[in-house]
Amino acid sequence: MDKRQQQLQQLQAHLQQLGEQFAQRLQQELPELAGKARQLQQADDVESQQHLLSSLRDQLHKLAGSAGTFGFNGLGQQARELEQQAEQWLDSLQQKQQRLQDFIHGLERLAEQPQLIEPEAAPAGTSARLASLASTTCARVIYILEDESSIGENIRLTLNTFGYKAEHFSRIEALDAAIAKHLPDALIIDVNLPEENQTGLDYAAALNQRLEEPLPLLVLTTQNDFATQLQAVRAGAQGFFTKPLDITKLENRLERCFAQQNGEPYRVMIVDDDRDLASRYSLVLRGADMLVETLQNPEQILAAMASFNPEVLLLDINMPNYGGPELAQIIRFNDDWLRVPIIYLSAETAITRQMGALVKAGDDFITKPISDNSLITTVFARAQRARLLSNALSRDSLTGLLKHADIKEQVALEQERGLRSGKSASVVMLDIDHFKQVNDNYGHVVGDSVIRALANLLRQRLRRIDSLGRYGGEEFLAVLPDCSAAQAERIVDEIRQQFSAICFSAGDREFNVTLSAGIAGAPDLTASELMEQADRALYQAKHSGRNQVRLAE
Ligand code: GH3
Ligand code: MG
Ligand code: MG
Repeated sequence: MDKRQQQLQQLQAHLQQLGEQFAQRLQQELPELAGKARQLQQADDVESQQHLLSSLRDQLHKLAGSAGTFGFNGLGQQARELEQQAEQWLDSLQQKQQRLQDFIHGLERLAEQPQLIEPEAAPAGTSARLASLASTTCARVIYILEDESSIGENIRLTLNTFGYKAEHFSRIEALDAAIAKHLPDALIIDVNLPEENQTGLDYAAALNQRLEEPLPLLVLTTQNDFATQLQAVRAGAQGFFTKPLDITKLENRLERCFAQQNGEPYRVMIVDDDRDLASRYSLVLRGADMLVETLQNPEQILAAMASFNPEVLLLDINMPNYGGPELAQIIRFNDDWLRVPIIYLSAETAITRQMGALVKAGDDFITKPISDNSLITTVFARAQRARLLSNALSRDSLTGLLKHADIKEQVALEQERGLRSGKSASVVMLDIDHFKQVNDNYGHVVGDSVIRALANLLRQRLRRIDSLGRYGGEEFLAVLPDCSAAQAERIVDEIRQQFSAICFSAGDREFNVTLSAGIAGAPDLTASELMEQADRALYQAKHSGRNQVRLAE
């Protein structure tokens, strides 16, 4: 909290400083504008008038966009009006001598503005956001309200193995008493409670209304109809699950709720040739805990995208040599950046031009001047959505694990990190034995549940820092940072034994399944060499009779 307040103070000091810088810039720029006005008055040929007018228009355009942002609202508005006049003048220069005169007077008055108006104080929203970002890292407490004890206990045990601190309650009264003593981090609530005089949703809705900050809420139900889902939404639910429950999915959703609350900061890139504006946006967004990189030279955009990997791109529309929409189209040439929303920043209020830019490429518009709060909200909402989509796209739907390309990328990342830190990672390749027979004997659906069971077991047994992916059908790839091959072998062999002990059932038949694994871990190997070696070790494990773990030689 103290640190937050310090950060807030720093932010405010920075904002103040930027405001002062801007005021200083005005002291230079406004007389310059007045000077150009005088030149314009003296210029007698149309060509130089046109030249001066268009340079004035561009300068006013920039001023209109930036002045409001720094708290000089009146100045910004006047600049905007003069900009529009300049535009009109350019359209029909000769016929409008009288209005030219007005325009010139306007410019002169602008220069007489009291110049050191205090910019408005930093907006309240920034501090509110900073203050609300308190977080803890100890085990998350989850309260479960479920009248069917077997289901409730099952959820409790499973969540506990995933590292949560779950508690199960059969009655509202008991849950309520527990909540009064200690507020959990999330609630899982069954809708139908025949023994109570209200539904679980009624209870949750009332509770969330009572709380200052609503709790993440997941809803369990047997009714999958629209009315129940609507009720759930109104109660503030973030997940809706029909019985029979898929607890893996439930756990995935919980994870997602918390990742949103306490995830890594969103990465935002700003491309704007106006250095002051870019710094200000950057400060405001950083104040809301985002990571920001600003770029003044648009030609470096592809390299900057690749190294910073932004989740949102803020793009100025008018830059000296390139249009924002042109840059956006270049970015859209590259499929790697499809997940990144592009938001144009522009003093452009002409709606048809905005639409034109959106049609070419880009997803949204922010019209300058924008208040700090709207900037934060717009960028935050876009970043949140982009991250959700990106996560959903990189997760395998059957197991919730990373997909082929994403786990391979993770192996490369960890291998590099290992090189830097001197603590090398191990790579594990796992494959279910004779899985074809499982499918043939018991059907594909049962086969799927075996794959899911192994995914769950792996998630439970591996550490949070380990990455795990579904490499192929019944093949898994894991990378264990800071873990020697020998350590990895011990862990994976335990998992092998536990998996072979799971008793699967299909109708009245019961069966067991085994797995084989290959492990590689050597600091001097590249990521693809590591994967190749692990694969070769897996092949040897298969060849020597399956149901075993092999180290690469
Ligand atoms: P081995 O011990 O040598 O690995 O034998 P295996 O039968 O497990 O290996 P093989 O690669 O021949 O067969 C894998 C089978 O897995 C073939 C494929 O139909 C099945 N499979 C792949 N993806 C899925 C899936 O998502 N669900 C189900 N049920 N089966 C899948
Ligand atoms: Mg297999
Ligand atoms: Mg296979």
